[in-house]
Amino acid sequence: MELLKKSAVELAAMLRAGEVTSVELTQACLDRIEAENGHLNAFLFVDADGALEIARAVDADRVAGKELPPFAGVPVAIKDNICQLGTPVTCGSKMLEGWISPYDATVVKNLKEARLPIVGHTNMDEFAMGSSTENSAFGPTTNPWGENLIPGGSGGGSAAAVAAYMVPWALGSDTGGSIRQPGAVTGTVGAKPTYGNVSRYGVVAMASSLDQVGPCARTVVDAAALQEILSSHDPHDSTSLPQVATGLHDAAAEGMAAQDLAGLRIGVVKEMSGDGFEPGVLAVFEETVEKLRARGAEVTEVSCPAFDSAIAAYYLIMPAEVSSNLARFDGVRYGNRVEPESGPVTAETMMSATRGAMFGAEVKRRIILGTYALSSGHYDQFYGSALKVRTLVHRDLDAAFEQVDVLVTPTAPTVAFEFGSKKDDLMAMYMNDMTTTPANLAGVPAVSVPAGLADGLPVGFQVIAPAHEDARMYKVAAMVEAVTDPSARECPIEVGEK
Ligand code: GLN
Repeated sequence: MELLKKSAVELAAMLRAGEVTSVELTQACLDRIEAENGHLNAFLFVDADGALEIARAVDADRVAGKELPPFAGVPVAIKDNICQLGTPVTCGSKMLEGWISPYDATVVKNLKEARLPIVGHTNMDEFAMGSSTENSAFGPTTNPWGENLIPGGSGGGSAAAVAAYMVPWALGSDTGGSIRQPGAVTGTVGAKPTYGNVSRYGVVAMASSLDQVGPCARTVVDAAALQEILSSHDPHDSTSLPQVATGLHDAAAEGMAAQDLAGLRIGVVKEMSGDGFEPGVLAVFEETVEKLRARGAEVTEVSCPAFDSAIAAYYLIMPAEVSSNLARFDGVRYGNRVEPESGPVTAETMMSATRGAMFGAEVKRRIILGTYALSSGHYDQFYGSALKVRTLVHRDLDAAFEQVDVLVTPTAPTVAFEFGSKKDDLMAMYMNDMTTTPANLAGVPAVSVPAGLADGLPVGFQVIAPAHEDARMYKVAAMVEAVTDPSARECPIEVGEK
Protein backbone atom coordinates (compact mmCIF):
# COMPACT_ATOMS: atom_id res chain seq x y z
CA MET A 1 0.00 0.00 0.00
CA GLU A 2 2.86 2.42 0.74
CA LEU A 3 3.97 2.02 -2.87
CA LEU A 4 0.52 2.98 -4.16
CA LYS A 5 0.47 6.13 -2.06
CA LYS A 6 3.50 7.52 -3.87
CA SER A 7 3.19 10.21 -6.52
CA ALA A 8 3.88 9.51 -10.19
CA VAL A 9 7.10 11.54 -9.93
CA GLU A 10 8.30 9.38 -7.02
CA LEU A 11 7.28 6.18 -8.78
CA ALA A 12 9.12 7.21 -11.95
CA ALA A 13 12.27 7.80 -9.87
CA MET A 14 11.90 4.38 -8.22
CA LEU A 15 11.51 2.74 -11.62
CA ARG A 16 14.61 4.48 -12.92
CA ALA A 17 16.59 3.47 -9.83
CA GLY A 18 15.48 -0.16 -10.22
CA GLU A 19 13.72 -0.16 -6.83
CA VAL A 20 10.56 -1.48 -8.42
CA THR A 21 9.67 -2.81 -11.86
CA SER A 22 6.77 -1.60 -13.95
CA VAL A 23 5.25 -5.09 -13.84
CA GLU A 24 5.31 -5.05 -10.01
CA LEU A 25 3.83 -1.57 -9.88
CA THR A 26 1.17 -2.28 -12.50
CA GLN A 27 0.26 -5.53 -10.75
CA ALA A 28 -0.04 -3.67 -7.44
CA CYS A 29 -2.53 -1.24 -9.06
CA LEU A 30 -4.45 -4.12 -10.64
CA ASP A 31 -4.62 -5.95 -7.29
CA ARG A 32 -5.93 -2.88 -5.55
CA ILE A 33 -8.51 -2.32 -8.30
CA GLU A 34 -9.57 -5.96 -8.03
CA ALA A 35 -9.91 -5.71 -4.25
CA GLU A 36 -11.76 -2.39 -4.11
CA ASN A 37 -13.65 -1.92 -7.33
CA GLY A 38 -16.63 -4.05 -6.35
CA HIS A 39 -17.23 -1.52 -3.61
CA LEU A 40 -16.22 1.73 -5.32
CA ASN A 41 -17.27 1.04 -8.95
CA ALA A 42 -14.58 3.43 -10.18
CA PHE A 43 -13.66 1.26 -13.16
CA LEU A 44 -15.98 0.05 -15.91
CA PHE A 45 -13.25 -1.93 -17.66
CA VAL A 46 -9.94 -3.26 -16.41
CA ASP A 47 -7.28 -4.19 -18.94
CA ALA A 48 -4.82 -6.33 -17.00
CA ASP A 49 -3.33 -7.97 -20.09
CA GLY A 50 -2.90 -4.76 -22.05
CA ALA A 51 -1.36 -2.89 -19.11
CA LEU A 52 1.02 -5.71 -18.18
CA GLU A 53 2.13 -6.04 -21.81
CA ILE A 54 3.27 -2.40 -21.82
CA ALA A 55 4.85 -2.84 -18.37
CA ARG A 56 6.84 -5.91 -19.47
CA ALA A 57 8.10 -4.13 -22.58
CA VAL A 58 9.19 -1.10 -20.50
CA ASP A 59 11.01 -3.34 -18.00
CA ALA A 60 12.75 -5.21 -20.81
CA ASP A 61 13.88 -1.98 -22.49
CA ARG A 62 15.15 -0.65 -19.17
CA VAL A 63 17.17 -3.80 -18.54
CA ALA A 64 18.55 -3.51 -22.08
CA GLY A 65 19.68 0.03 -21.29
CA LYS A 66 17.42 1.67 -23.88
CA GLU A 67 16.48 5.27 -23.45
CA LEU A 68 12.94 5.63 -22.08
CA PRO A 69 10.54 8.56 -21.67
CA PRO A 70 10.65 10.00 -18.11
CA PHE A 71 7.45 8.39 -16.83
CA ALA A 72 7.75 5.08 -18.68
CA GLY A 73 6.14 2.29 -16.67
CA VAL A 74 3.93 4.44 -14.40
CA PRO A 75 0.32 3.17 -14.74
CA VAL A 76 -2.56 5.44 -15.73
CA ALA A 77 -6.35 5.15 -16.16
CA ILE A 78 -8.59 6.86 -18.70
CA LYS A 79 -12.16 8.09 -18.57
CA ASP A 80 -14.53 5.88 -20.51
CA ASN A 81 -15.26 8.48 -23.20
CA ILE A 82 -11.73 8.28 -24.61
CA CYS A 83 -11.21 5.83 -27.46
CA GLN A 84 -8.57 3.15 -27.03
CA LEU A 85 -7.99 0.69 -29.86
CA GLY A 86 -9.51 -2.75 -29.30
CA THR A 87 -11.12 -1.91 -25.96
CA PRO A 88 -14.75 -1.25 -24.95
CA VAL A 89 -15.75 2.40 -24.65
CA THR A 90 -19.24 3.06 -23.24
CA CYS A 91 -19.35 6.72 -22.13
CA GLY A 92 -21.31 5.36 -19.17
CA SER A 93 -24.22 4.62 -21.53
CA LYS A 94 -26.18 1.54 -22.57
CA MET A 95 -26.14 3.12 -26.02
CA LEU A 96 -22.49 2.13 -26.52
CA GLU A 97 -22.35 -0.97 -24.32
CA GLY A 98 -20.29 -3.58 -26.14
CA TRP A 99 -18.80 -1.12 -28.66
CA ILE A 100 -15.10 -1.69 -29.28
CA SER A 101 -13.05 1.27 -30.41
CA PRO A 102 -11.38 0.77 -33.79
CA TYR A 103 -8.71 3.39 -33.10
CA ASP A 104 -6.72 5.28 -30.49
CA ALA A 105 -7.58 8.84 -29.49
CA THR A 106 -4.56 11.13 -29.90
CA VAL A 107 -4.27 11.38 -26.11
CA VAL A 108 -4.09 7.58 -25.90
CA LYS A 109 -1.45 7.57 -28.62
CA ASN A 110 0.47 10.08 -26.50
CA LEU A 111 0.12 7.90 -23.38
CA LYS A 112 1.40 4.92 -25.35
CA GLU A 113 4.34 6.94 -26.69
CA ALA A 114 5.12 7.94 -23.10
CA ARG A 115 4.99 4.17 -22.34
CA LEU A 116 2.35 4.36 -19.59
CA PRO A 117 0.50 1.09 -18.91
CA ILE A 118 -3.25 1.85 -19.25
CA VAL A 119 -4.95 -0.17 -16.50
CA GLY A 120 -8.54 0.52 -17.51
CA HIS A 121 -11.44 2.85 -18.17
CA THR A 122 -13.19 4.81 -15.42
CA ASN A 123 -16.85 5.35 -14.65
CA MET A 124 -18.63 8.57 -15.56
CA ASP A 125 -22.02 10.24 -15.85
CA GLU A 126 -23.63 9.18 -19.12
CA PHE A 127 -21.94 11.06 -21.98
CA ALA A 128 -20.27 13.26 -19.32
CA MET A 129 -23.52 14.92 -18.25
CA GLY A 130 -23.71 15.30 -14.50
CA SER A 131 -21.94 16.36 -11.32
CA SER A 132 -22.21 13.19 -9.24
CA THR A 133 -21.63 10.11 -11.47
CA GLU A 134 -25.17 9.09 -10.51
CA ASN A 135 -26.12 9.33 -14.20
CA SER A 136 -23.90 6.40 -15.21
CA ALA A 137 -25.95 3.56 -16.72
CA PHE A 138 -23.62 1.20 -14.85
CA GLY A 139 -24.28 2.46 -11.34
CA PRO A 140 -22.67 5.31 -9.42
CA THR A 141 -19.09 5.46 -8.17
CA THR A 142 -18.63 5.79 -4.41
CA ASN A 143 -16.46 8.59 -3.04
CA PRO A 144 -13.68 6.89 -1.04
CA TRP A 145 -14.11 9.62 1.61
CA GLY A 146 -17.51 8.24 2.64
CA GLU A 147 -19.89 5.37 1.98
CA ASN A 148 -22.89 7.51 1.00
CA LEU A 149 -21.06 10.31 -0.76
CA ILE A 150 -20.93 11.19 -4.44
CA PRO A 151 -17.43 11.44 -5.98
CA GLY A 152 -18.39 14.40 -8.17
CA GLY A 153 -18.99 14.21 -11.87
CA SER A 154 -18.92 13.58 -14.58
CA GLY A 155 -15.44 12.14 -14.00
CA GLY A 156 -16.16 10.61 -10.60
CA GLY A 157 -14.51 7.33 -11.60
CA SER A 158 -11.11 8.84 -12.38
CA ALA A 159 -11.13 11.02 -9.26
CA ALA A 160 -12.20 8.14 -6.97
CA ALA A 161 -9.59 5.81 -8.52
CA VAL A 162 -6.83 8.34 -7.85
CA ALA A 163 -8.10 9.27 -4.36
CA ALA A 164 -8.37 5.58 -3.39
CA TYR A 165 -4.80 4.83 -4.53
CA MET A 166 -5.90 2.50 -7.34
CA VAL A 167 -3.73 4.41 -9.79
CA PRO A 168 -1.45 7.44 -9.33
CA TRP A 169 -3.07 9.52 -12.05
CA ALA A 170 -5.86 9.41 -14.61
CA LEU A 171 -7.43 11.27 -17.51
CA GLY A 172 -10.69 13.14 -17.36
CA SER A 173 -12.64 15.42 -19.67
CA ASP A 174 -13.91 18.81 -18.62
CA THR A 175 -16.80 20.49 -20.46
CA GLY A 176 -18.15 22.43 -17.49
CA GLY A 177 -16.05 21.20 -14.58
CA SER A 178 -15.96 17.41 -14.85
CA ILE A 179 -12.29 17.14 -13.91
CA ARG A 180 -12.16 19.97 -11.36
CA GLN A 181 -15.36 19.37 -9.38
CA PRO A 182 -14.64 15.64 -8.82
CA GLY A 183 -11.12 16.74 -7.84
CA ALA A 184 -12.56 19.15 -5.27
CA VAL A 185 -14.84 16.62 -3.59
CA THR A 186 -12.33 13.74 -3.55
CA GLY A 187 -9.24 15.70 -2.42
CA THR A 188 -7.42 15.27 -5.73
CA VAL A 189 -5.89 17.74 -8.18
CA GLY A 190 -7.85 18.17 -11.41
CA ALA A 191 -6.95 20.50 -14.27
CA LYS A 192 -8.62 21.74 -17.41
CA PRO A 193 -5.97 22.92 -19.90
CA THR A 194 -6.31 25.91 -22.22
CA TYR A 195 -8.83 24.97 -24.93
CA GLY A 196 -6.91 23.42 -27.83
CA ASN A 197 -3.89 22.46 -25.79
CA VAL A 198 -4.89 18.79 -25.72
CA SER A 199 -6.36 17.07 -28.77
CA ARG A 200 -10.05 16.11 -28.75
CA TYR A 201 -9.59 13.59 -31.59
CA GLY A 202 -11.02 10.27 -30.43
CA VAL A 203 -12.70 11.76 -27.37
CA VAL A 204 -16.46 11.25 -27.65
CA ALA A 205 -17.81 14.78 -28.04
CA MET A 206 -20.20 16.29 -25.55
CA ALA A 207 -20.03 20.03 -26.36
CA SER A 208 -17.16 20.55 -28.77
CA SER A 209 -16.50 24.23 -28.08
CA LEU A 210 -16.12 23.49 -24.35
CA ASP A 211 -14.64 19.96 -24.10
CA GLN A 212 -11.03 19.55 -23.02
CA VAL A 213 -9.19 16.48 -21.75
CA GLY A 214 -6.96 16.98 -18.73
CA PRO A 215 -5.18 15.31 -15.82
CA CYS A 216 -6.38 14.07 -12.45
CA ALA A 217 -3.61 13.36 -9.91
CA ARG A 218 -2.69 13.53 -6.24
CA THR A 219 -0.14 16.34 -6.58
CA VAL A 220 0.06 19.47 -8.70
CA VAL A 221 3.46 18.44 -10.05
CA ASP A 222 2.02 15.12 -11.24
CA ALA A 223 -0.94 16.85 -12.89
CA ALA A 224 1.42 19.23 -14.69
CA ALA A 225 3.62 16.36 -15.85
CA LEU A 226 0.61 14.43 -17.15
CA GLN A 227 -0.70 17.45 -19.07
CA GLU A 228 2.71 17.75 -20.70
CA ILE A 229 2.40 14.13 -21.86
CA LEU A 230 -1.11 14.77 -23.22
CA SER A 231 -0.39 18.04 -24.96
CA SER A 232 0.45 17.87 -28.66
CA HIS A 233 -0.43 19.63 -31.86
CA ASP A 234 -2.85 17.39 -33.73
CA PRO A 235 -3.80 17.88 -37.38
CA HIS A 236 -6.84 15.61 -36.74
CA ASP A 237 -8.36 18.27 -34.47
CA SER A 238 -9.01 21.59 -36.21
CA THR A 239 -9.06 23.41 -32.86
CA SER A 240 -5.70 21.99 -31.74
CA LEU A 241 -3.27 24.80 -30.97
CA PRO A 242 -0.01 24.98 -32.91
CA GLN A 243 2.02 25.44 -29.73
CA VAL A 244 2.48 22.54 -27.33
CA ALA A 245 2.54 23.24 -23.60
CA THR A 246 6.03 22.84 -22.23
CA GLY A 247 7.66 23.61 -18.92
CA LEU A 248 4.53 22.76 -16.92
CA HIS A 249 6.27 20.25 -14.69
CA ASP A 250 9.16 22.67 -14.07
CA ALA A 251 6.76 25.53 -13.34
CA ALA A 252 4.92 23.39 -10.77
CA ALA A 253 8.18 22.32 -9.14
CA GLU A 254 9.22 25.98 -8.95
CA GLY A 255 5.89 26.86 -7.32
CA MET A 256 6.35 24.11 -4.73
CA ALA A 257 9.78 25.42 -3.80
CA ALA A 258 8.83 29.12 -3.66
CA GLN A 259 8.93 30.53 -0.14
CA ASP A 260 8.38 34.17 -0.93
CA LEU A 261 5.36 34.94 -3.09
CA ALA A 262 6.08 38.66 -3.42
CA GLY A 263 5.16 39.88 -6.89
CA LEU A 264 2.31 37.42 -7.34
CA ARG A 265 -1.00 39.22 -7.90
CA ILE A 266 -4.03 37.15 -6.93
CA GLY A 267 -7.59 38.23 -7.73
CA VAL A 268 -10.41 36.89 -5.60
CA VAL A 269 -13.55 36.78 -7.74
CA LYS A 270 -16.17 38.79 -5.86
CA GLU A 271 -19.16 37.04 -7.46
CA MET A 272 -17.99 33.57 -6.41
CA SER A 273 -18.91 33.68 -2.74
CA GLY A 274 -21.92 34.30 -0.56
CA ASP A 275 -25.26 32.75 -1.47
CA GLY A 276 -25.11 29.12 -2.49
CA PHE A 277 -21.69 28.49 -0.93
CA GLU A 278 -21.40 26.38 2.20
CA PRO A 279 -19.81 28.33 5.06
CA GLY A 280 -17.24 25.55 5.58
CA VAL A 281 -16.14 25.85 1.94
CA LEU A 282 -15.80 29.62 2.19
CA ALA A 283 -13.84 29.31 5.45
CA VAL A 284 -11.24 27.00 3.86
CA PHE A 285 -11.09 29.23 0.79
CA GLU A 286 -10.53 32.40 2.80
CA GLU A 287 -7.98 30.73 5.05
CA THR A 288 -6.01 29.62 1.98
CA VAL A 289 -6.09 33.12 0.50
CA GLU A 290 -4.77 34.45 3.83
CA LYS A 291 -1.92 31.92 3.81
CA LEU A 292 -0.92 33.07 0.32
CA ARG A 293 -1.09 36.68 1.44
CA ALA A 294 1.04 35.86 4.48
CA ARG A 295 3.72 34.52 2.14
CA GLY A 296 3.82 37.83 0.29
CA ALA A 297 1.22 37.52 -2.47
CA GLU A 298 -0.75 40.66 -3.26
CA VAL A 299 -4.46 39.85 -2.95
CA THR A 300 -7.21 42.04 -4.41
CA GLU A 301 -10.90 41.57 -4.98
CA VAL A 302 -11.86 41.51 -8.65
CA SER A 303 -15.35 41.76 -10.06
CA CYS A 304 -16.44 39.52 -12.94
CA PRO A 305 -20.14 40.42 -13.22
CA ALA A 306 -20.83 38.06 -16.16
CA PHE A 307 -19.82 35.07 -14.03
CA ASP A 308 -23.27 35.28 -12.42
CA SER A 309 -24.85 34.50 -15.79
CA ALA A 310 -22.22 31.99 -16.93
CA ILE A 311 -24.14 29.03 -15.61
CA ALA A 312 -27.28 30.03 -17.53
CA ALA A 313 -25.27 30.51 -20.73
CA TYR A 314 -23.52 27.17 -20.21
CA TYR A 315 -26.83 25.34 -19.80
CA LEU A 316 -27.92 26.67 -23.22
CA ILE A 317 -24.69 26.41 -25.22
CA MET A 318 -23.77 22.96 -23.87
CA PRO A 319 -27.18 21.31 -24.60
CA ALA A 320 -27.28 23.00 -28.02
CA GLU A 321 -23.98 21.32 -28.91
CA VAL A 322 -25.03 18.08 -27.18
CA SER A 323 -28.18 17.91 -29.33
CA SER A 324 -26.02 18.07 -32.44
CA ASN A 325 -23.15 15.83 -31.27
CA LEU A 326 -25.40 13.05 -29.98
CA ALA A 327 -27.43 12.84 -33.20
CA ARG A 328 -25.00 10.17 -34.40
CA PHE A 329 -26.27 7.69 -31.79
CA ASP A 330 -29.21 6.57 -33.86
CA GLY A 331 -28.80 2.80 -34.21
CA VAL A 332 -27.36 3.24 -37.71
CA ARG A 333 -24.16 5.21 -37.42
CA TYR A 334 -23.52 4.39 -33.75
CA GLY A 335 -25.43 2.79 -30.91
CA ASN A 336 -27.17 -0.43 -29.99
CA ARG A 337 -30.19 -0.71 -32.25
CA VAL A 338 -33.64 -1.26 -30.76
CA GLU A 339 -36.58 -2.20 -33.01
CA PRO A 340 -39.94 -0.60 -32.19
CA GLU A 341 -42.19 -2.85 -30.13
CA SER A 342 -45.17 -2.39 -32.42
CA GLY A 343 -46.11 -0.76 -35.69
CA PRO A 344 -44.07 -0.48 -38.85
CA VAL A 345 -40.27 -0.57 -38.73
CA THR A 346 -39.00 2.53 -40.50
CA ALA A 347 -35.76 4.44 -40.01
CA GLU A 348 -37.67 6.92 -37.91
CA THR A 349 -39.44 4.42 -35.62
CA MET A 350 -36.24 2.41 -35.18
CA MET A 351 -34.20 5.53 -34.30
CA SER A 352 -36.88 6.69 -31.92
CA ALA A 353 -37.01 3.27 -30.21
CA THR A 354 -33.19 3.17 -30.04
CA ARG A 355 -32.80 6.63 -28.54
CA GLY A 356 -35.79 6.15 -26.26
CA ALA A 357 -34.47 2.93 -24.78
CA MET A 358 -30.73 3.52 -24.75
CA PHE A 359 -30.34 7.10 -23.46
CA GLY A 360 -30.92 7.92 -19.80
CA ALA A 361 -33.17 10.72 -18.57
CA GLU A 362 -30.48 13.41 -18.23
CA VAL A 363 -29.15 12.86 -21.74
CA LYS A 364 -32.67 13.02 -23.20
CA ARG A 365 -33.42 16.17 -21.21
CA ARG A 366 -30.36 17.94 -22.59
CA ILE A 367 -30.99 16.84 -26.18
CA ILE A 368 -34.54 18.17 -25.98
CA LEU A 369 -33.44 21.40 -24.31
CA GLY A 370 -30.68 21.94 -26.87
CA THR A 371 -32.94 21.20 -29.81
CA TYR A 372 -35.46 23.70 -28.47
CA ALA A 373 -32.81 26.36 -27.85
CA LEU A 374 -31.66 26.03 -31.47
CA SER A 375 -35.13 25.92 -33.04
CA SER A 376 -35.87 28.65 -35.57
CA GLY A 377 -38.31 30.64 -33.45
CA HIS A 378 -36.08 30.63 -30.36
CA TYR A 379 -32.54 30.68 -31.66
CA ASP A 380 -31.83 34.36 -31.00
CA GLN A 381 -33.70 34.42 -27.73
CA PHE A 382 -31.83 31.49 -26.19
CA TYR A 383 -28.71 30.43 -28.07
CA GLY A 384 -27.98 33.95 -29.34
CA SER A 385 -28.28 35.46 -25.85
CA ALA A 386 -26.08 32.75 -24.39
CA LEU A 387 -23.36 33.53 -26.94
CA LYS A 388 -23.48 37.18 -25.90
CA VAL A 389 -22.97 36.19 -22.26
CA ARG A 390 -20.05 34.04 -23.39
CA THR A 391 -18.45 37.15 -24.91
CA LEU A 392 -19.03 39.04 -21.67
CA VAL A 393 -17.30 36.28 -19.67
CA HIS A 394 -14.31 36.64 -22.02
CA ARG A 395 -14.29 40.40 -21.52
CA ASP A 396 -14.49 40.07 -17.72
CA LEU A 397 -11.50 37.77 -17.78
CA ASP A 398 -9.52 40.01 -20.14
CA ALA A 399 -10.14 42.98 -17.86
CA ALA A 400 -9.32 40.98 -14.72
CA PHE A 401 -6.03 39.69 -16.12
CA GLU A 402 -4.92 43.29 -16.76
CA GLN A 403 -4.91 43.70 -12.99
CA VAL A 404 -3.92 40.30 -11.63
CA ASP A 405 -1.90 37.22 -12.64
CA VAL A 406 -4.47 34.61 -11.64
CA LEU A 407 -8.03 34.50 -10.37
CA VAL A 408 -9.10 32.27 -7.51
CA THR A 409 -12.46 30.87 -6.38
CA PRO A 410 -13.69 27.87 -4.44
CA THR A 411 -13.87 25.01 -7.00
CA ALA A 412 -17.33 23.89 -5.93
CA PRO A 413 -19.94 25.52 -3.70
CA THR A 414 -20.28 22.46 -1.46
CA VAL A 415 -18.35 19.47 -0.21
CA ALA A 416 -19.33 15.98 -1.41
CA PHE A 417 -23.07 15.49 -0.92
CA GLU A 418 -25.03 12.31 -0.31
CA PHE A 419 -26.28 10.02 -3.05
CA GLY A 420 -29.78 10.92 -4.11
CA SER A 421 -29.81 14.26 -2.31
CA LYS A 422 -29.78 16.39 -5.48
CA LYS A 423 -30.83 13.89 -8.10
CA ASP A 424 -34.36 15.26 -8.31
CA ASP A 425 -33.41 18.87 -7.73
CA LEU A 426 -31.94 19.77 -11.09
CA MET A 427 -31.32 23.40 -10.27
CA ALA A 428 -29.27 22.45 -7.21
CA MET A 429 -27.33 19.93 -9.30
CA TYR A 430 -26.67 22.44 -12.09
CA MET A 431 -25.67 25.17 -9.62
CA ASN A 432 -22.71 22.99 -8.65
CA ASP A 433 -21.10 24.13 -11.86
CA MET A 434 -21.35 27.90 -11.30
CA THR A 435 -17.70 28.20 -10.36
CA THR A 436 -16.24 25.93 -13.02
CA THR A 437 -18.16 26.83 -16.20
CA PRO A 438 -16.68 30.33 -16.80
CA ALA A 439 -13.28 28.79 -17.64
CA ASN A 440 -14.87 26.49 -20.23
CA LEU A 441 -16.86 29.31 -21.81
CA ALA A 442 -13.68 31.39 -22.16
CA GLY A 443 -11.30 28.52 -22.99
CA VAL A 444 -8.87 29.50 -20.23
CA PRO A 445 -6.99 26.98 -18.06
CA ALA A 446 -8.19 26.24 -14.53
CA VAL A 447 -7.21 23.76 -11.84
CA SER A 448 -8.61 22.57 -8.52
CA VAL A 449 -6.21 21.98 -5.63
CA PRO A 450 -7.24 20.33 -2.33
CA ALA A 451 -7.03 23.15 0.22
CA GLY A 452 -8.48 21.86 3.48
CA LEU A 453 -11.34 20.05 5.13
CA ALA A 454 -14.85 21.21 5.99
CA ASP A 455 -16.82 18.78 8.15
CA GLY A 456 -14.01 16.31 7.54
CA LEU A 457 -14.45 16.45 3.76
CA PRO A 458 -12.12 17.94 1.14
CA VAL A 459 -12.56 21.46 -0.26
CA GLY A 460 -11.07 22.46 -3.60
CA PHE A 461 -9.38 25.79 -4.36
CA GLN A 462 -9.61 26.87 -8.01
CA VAL A 463 -6.85 28.78 -9.81
CA ILE A 464 -7.80 30.31 -13.19
CA ALA A 465 -5.08 31.68 -15.50
CA PRO A 466 -5.15 33.50 -18.86
CA ALA A 467 -5.28 31.39 -22.04
CA HIS A 468 -1.92 29.74 -22.87
CA GLU A 469 -0.63 30.42 -19.36
CA ASP A 470 -1.01 26.82 -18.17
CA ALA A 471 2.50 26.97 -16.72
CA ARG A 472 1.53 29.97 -14.58
CA MET A 473 -1.60 28.13 -13.45
CA TYR A 474 0.43 25.11 -12.29
CA LYS A 475 3.02 27.28 -10.62
CA VAL A 476 0.41 29.08 -8.52
CA ALA A 477 -1.48 25.81 -7.90
CA ALA A 478 1.72 24.33 -6.49
CA MET A 479 2.11 27.38 -4.24
CA VAL A 480 -1.38 26.65 -2.96
CA GLU A 481 -0.51 23.00 -2.38
CA ALA A 482 2.63 24.06 -0.52
CA VAL A 483 0.72 26.20 1.99
CA THR A 484 -2.13 23.77 2.65
CA ASP A 485 -2.48 20.95 5.10
CA PRO A 486 -1.80 17.54 3.51
CA SER A 487 -4.81 16.00 5.30
CA ALA A 488 -7.04 17.44 2.57
CA ARG A 489 -5.39 15.30 -0.08
CA GLU A 490 -4.83 12.07 1.83
CA CYS A 491 -7.98 10.04 1.85
CA PRO A 492 -7.91 8.54 5.36
CA ILE A 493 -10.14 5.62 4.55
CA GLU A 494 -8.48 2.33 3.92
CA VAL A 495 -11.16 1.26 1.53
CA GLY A 496 -12.47 -2.18 2.31
CA GLU A 497 -10.87 -2.10 5.76
CA LYS A 498 -13.69 -0.34 7.51
N1 GLN B 1 -21.48 19.08 -14.37
C1 GLN B 1 -21.37 19.58 -15.69
C2 GLN B 1 -22.53 19.12 -16.53
O1 GLN B 1 -23.29 18.34 -16.04
C3 GLN B 1 -20.03 19.22 -16.23
C4 GLN B 1 -19.98 18.31 -17.38
C5 GLN B 1 -18.59 18.06 -17.89
O2 GLN B 1 -17.67 18.82 -17.63
N2 GLN B 1 -18.47 17.03 -18.70
O3 GLN B 1 -22.70 19.52 -17.63
